Amino acid sequence: MTASAPGRASAPVRETRGLTRDEAARRLADTGPNEVTARRPVRLHTRVLAQLTDPLIMVLLGAVVLTLAIGDHPDAIVIGLVVLVNTTVGVAQEIRADNAVAALSALTAPHARVRRDGAVRELPAAEVVPGDVLLVGEGDIVAADAELAEASALLLDESMLTGESVPVDKDAGTALGAGTVVVRGRGVATVTATGAASALGRIAALLDERREPTPLQRRLAALGRVLAALTLALCVLIFVLGLVRGLPLGTMAVTAISLAVAAVPESLPAVVTLALALGARRMAARHALVRRLPAVETLGSVSVLATDKTGTLTEGRMVVQHVWTPQVSADLSGVGYEPVGEVLVDGRPAEADELEPLTELLTVTALCNDATLRPADDKASDGRWTALGDPMEAALLTAAAKAGCPDSAEPATTRPRLGEAPFDSLRRRMTTLHATGEGGVLVCLKGAPEAVLDPAVLLDPPEALSAAHQEAARLAAQGYRVLAVASGVRNDVPSPVTEAESGLALLGLVALDDPPKPHAAATLASCRAAGITPVLITGDHPATARAVASHVALLGAGGETEGHVVTGADVAAGRVADLTSVRVFARTDPQQKLDVVEAWRAKGAVTAMTGDGVNDGPALHRADIGVAMGARGTEVARQAADLVLTDDELSTVVAAVDEGRRVYDNIRRFLVYGMAGGAAEILVMLTGPLLGLPLPLRAGQILWINLLTHGLTGVAMGAEPASPGAMRRPPRPPGQHILGGGAWQRLLVLAAVVTAASLGAGLAARTLDLAWQSVLFLALLAAQLGVVLGLRARLLTTKNPFLPLSVLASTLLAAAALYVPFLSSVLETEPLGGAGIGLAVACAPAGFLAARLVRTAFRGTRPAGASGTRELP
Ligand code: ADP
Ligand code: MG
Repeated sequence: MTASAPGRASAPVRETRGLTRDEAARRLADTGPNEVTARRPVRLHTRVLAQLTDPLIMVLLGAVVLTLAIGDHPDAIVIGLVVLVNTTVGVAQEIRADNAVAALSALTAPHARVRRDGAVRELPAAEVVPGDVLLVGEGDIVAADAELAEASALLLDESMLTGESVPVDKDAGTALGAGTVVVRGRGVATVTATGAASALGRIAALLDERREPTPLQRRLAALGRVLAALTLALCVLIFVLGLVRGLPLGTMAVTAISLAVAAVPESLPAVVTLALALGARRMAARHALVRRLPAVETLGSVSVLATDKTGTLTEGRMVVQHVWTPQVSADLSGVGYEPVGEVLVDGRPAEADELEPLTELLTVTALCNDATLRPADDKASDGRWTALGDPMEAALLTAAAKAGCPDSAEPATTRPRLGEAPFDSLRRRMTTLHATGEGGVLVCLKGAPEAVLDPAVLLDPPEALSAAHQEAARLAAQGYRVLAVASGVRNDVPSPVTEAESGLALLGLVALDDPPKPHAAATLASCRAAGITPVLITGDHPATARAVASHVALLGAGGETEGHVVTGADVAAGRVADLTSVRVFARTDPQQKLDVVEAWRAKGAVTAMTGDGVNDGPALHRADIGVAMGARGTEVARQAADLVLTDDELSTVVAAVDEGRRVYDNIRRFLVYGMAGGAAEILVMLTGPLLGLPLPLRAGQILWINLLTHGLTGVAMGAEPASPGAMRRPPRPPGQHILGGGAWQRLLVLAAVVTAASLGAGLAARTLDLAWQSVLFLALLAAQLGVVLGLRARLLTTKNPFLPLSVLASTLLAAAALYVPFLSSVLETEPLGGAGIGLAVACAPAGFLAARLVRTAFRGTRPAGASGTRELP
């Protein structure tokens, strides 16, 4: 993928030193950043206005006018205060969410490779300036408009600019458009235009980029409308009943309006956005960058994880262990990329005549190679040799050096490359052409055994091919990644280069070891515990796939077909009836990845899929959650993905799922709490009069309760930690209603308990001749605060100090409402003595216990798995 690694470019461009750092900085200041759409910051007054024009707030503002008109100044003050607090909280939440989202998109911004001061540097695409020397390679997204100075087998997908879906070949001298994708090959270009002046900028200027609400937000908005209608109807009922009872019209109007405001969870959309944005931030801290906010909620319901092998389940750090040639086979000693080790035949150092076929083979692998080795003295490498480019190719360079091949150090200078047919996952082989020095052209080919040991490619007799085939199968079954190597000499450079892939002679096989990651098995086990089915989809040999799969316990787990390894060819030929019954796919191409994703999605599963190559884009798009490797993956894969793993670890996907479930759980918890509270307030106002409490609560008191519950404690709920069992239960069915899985039942029971407890306290207070309205007010608050604490997944966790703090703050504010003279006069409360306090505070344990009980009584739906109907976004 990093085809154009430093040092690989050939002579003419090597002389171009690129811009100097100072010059680049000057130009950047001049032309501005290379960004297509700088999002215009939303003005503060626009935000405030948006909050104030919310229908509910408009009603409240109407109420302020009404109360002023009838001379009810205390209520006017309270309602005005509520509007003020509501608007402030709303605006603050919006700004916080926006900032979190902006910080995330900065983290996943595209990168570009440019040459400056004579060295290749990778920097944010936004810092590219006109005149920069831009290097592009397979999988890159062109960062700016540029003119190609040099191109090697460069194939460009320009569909985003031209709509033309067939990739086009690009030669030196032609133009590269910003935003186009390098399908293969590499090139060096000089930047001509950046930012809004570039081709992509001109197109983007025509498009109005708007942030869409997430599916959850849409569903909640719909729910909110239903709730609002219901609440308004009930409030009208309370209003009418009050009038019938002979209460003053003005008071009843203000009370009904306040009740409506209190009961509707108006802060829901803000809470959801904030919960998603904060969830995304926590994921980022755990090395998972979310590129689209809705992915946060989808992650929680992922039920299938399709993973690739190399670098994901395995280390991706390879070492050549065996070299097999028809004449002799050898073992190589040494670890890592350090070119220190011995070539052993039958356990003793190889002799000169044995070494000869081995070096010939390894020389070809060193020439047919785009990687570079970086010696240990490099600062970033903590004393180890590191690889730039494809790890497998780097391992081949190391092996060549161990065998003393003359070309391993600077192959490009000793045998200049004349042409290449790059590796891609469909052809599974790669060819380069080199000048032999005697006027001939040396053809170097390496690739998957099936792609090389083919009579159309090799001249060798059938017996030789079948011997090599057998050896390749034997090595693959031991878990090695196997490459076949061939070469030949011709006297011209054919066009296309692939024509050179015939009439060659087999040199032998190379077996590379890519050990499974130590934690891979544990990661897959934690997936299963969370009800997520892991599936391996690799381009590698079936035997290698099987060896790795059984090592990480992916195979042999259960059912009849689960032991099978199915190949891409089987899939293409329709030999697999049910793709979802297979756990390991080998020799697949990107189209078959897509088939597997589609099969699972058709069954209603929510799929996450990892990918790193150019061709993985469609599958990453199609999967519900496309996962790209931040370090190893190509730019295309990163930009097509929903989730980018900065540490390239599969376990990070599991961590992200964990966070996703937490966010969803917290939103549901907020809903249950908020709606139960709102319903209780309505029920108290409706049934109170029937029990002889004429106007149970005053308008201001209702709004005060609303502020302390929805506003303070409710928002603090969004930061609750995940419940301990979150990753040991199956994912929620994707079509499940936000209030499904027991939430409805919970909220109704809680509403009933809170209503009964606080009315009970109020009635008792009246019998005892206490200030019953104030007792009822305090009781309703206490019961709800009990519910908040009871709904926690871990009662005494210190992970979310905001929640206990918000409960404490609410308690203090409740006390203030009773004992601070100014407040108690606007809220029309009376200070309570010990008995009144006792009655009210006794409601807190009632709410708490009810919450603990409903948590266990109404658990979510159990058997989720991959069944059930899928809700289309
Ligand atoms: P995966 O990443 O899932 O292991 P790939 O699609 O990258 O699989 O590779 C498929 C096969 O192609 C490998 O098993 C190997 O035989 C061959 N191959 C991979 N990379 C190269 C390369 N750079 N040159 C030649 N052959 C390669
Ligand atoms: Mg690969």
